[in-house]
Amino acid sequence: MAGGDSDAGEILAPLVDLKAQYLSLRPRIDARVHKVLSEGRFVLGPEVEELEKALATFSGVRHAICVASGTDALKIALMAEGIGPGDAVFVPSFTFVATAEVVAGLGATPVFVDIDKKTFNIDPDDLCRCVEQVRRDGGLQARAVIAVDLFGLPTDYATINEIAGRYGLFVLADAAHSFGGSVLGYRVGGLAPVTATSFYPSKPLGCYGDGGCVLTDDDSRAKIIRSIHRHGFGSDGHSAIHVGVNSRLDTLQAAILLAKLEVFEDELKARERVAHYYGSELGSVVTVPSCPAGFSSAWAVYAILVRDRNSVREALAQAGAATAVYYSAPLHLHPAYASYGNGPGSLPVCERVSQRILSLPMHPYLDEATAGLICQTVIRALS
Ligand SMILES: *Cc1c(COP(=O)(O)O)cnc(C)c1O
Repeated sequence: MAGGDSDAGEILAPLVDLKAQYLSLRPRIDARVHKVLSEGRFVLGPEVEELEKALATFSGVRHAICVASGTDALKIALMAEGIGPGDAVFVPSFTFVATAEVVAGLGATPVFVDIDKKTFNIDPDDLCRCVEQVRRDGGLQARAVIAVDLFGLPTDYATINEIAGRYGLFVLADAAHSFGGSVLGYRVGGLAPVTATSFYPSKPLGCYGDGGCVLTDDDSRAKIIRSIHRHGFGSDGHSAIHVGVNSRLDTLQAAILLAKLEVFEDELKARERVAHYYGSELGSVVTVPSCPAGFSSAWAVYAILVRDRNSVREALAQAGAATAVYYSAPLHLHPAYASYGNGPGSLPVCERVSQRILSLPMHPYLDEATAGLICQTVIRALS
């Protein structure tokens, strides 16, 4: 995962094991890659369209538009909505920097919101408080909310969509962690009007470089997004009808993703098994992630809350297990974003969580013996 501070060195249990995955999927990945190499259509080759169809089907929406990164997916979705100077966009402060960076980069104003202490996703009550504040202050127009499905758990979109409807906000889902997750059987991609996801290598569905995708069920939004990602061209491919960007997913990355998508359902089940194992072994000694009834996480990250984080990290490092801290500071305390926020103490839940959060190895190829060793090490370090 981008943006954490992770341990280097000799490790038996990496946070994410891309080597084990490649060894397991090698024949199908190699065949896909060699086909692209021999055909030579490296930009907008047939695999890109094939992948877009497969991703749309997988998530149960009409449109998937592949782009060059998850950050671009967020940015293009906001561009298509015409978000810019004078607009307030509400974002949880406990997220990767990309969520707020795209807002500020378009000249709009990120307004930081606190998180729910159980799910770590945006707190609906605090969202209402922040929107009311912006409306009282005047100056900015409350335009949009970016809900981040943190660590893979989908946001409670029923509640967020209802609040957004009340205040006239556009809802963008940052599903960089949650592609493959679902709520009441409905997959991420169709839970908000527009969803952005990332194919960064360590995300649940990762390619071998940068990549991302915008998902939507809305025909008119899809048309604008598709235009913007290719320089704003209209359907003739020559005349620019929007100010766009150049943000395409390479054919090679699409080919790799097609190979990985074939086993993605099985990988999600394997992640779920690891999460259940951790939960049953560690649930009585640390705070383990909670997954509300009807919600299904993609388990991009398995994060626990511990009081003595350093000693647990040290013990795990000695046992050969990697750990990381996502995120050591909420965004309103980062130097570049401090001026958008209200300083230390203003968003108490994310400030407290950032002090205690710790990520353990989580990937579909983690065997029970290794997971067992990790759990025993955590338990011993805390006893
Ligand atoms: C990784 C990530 C992104 C950005 O994805 P990239 O593909 O790395 O640009 C956006 N939001 C969150 C929450 C992320 O973790």
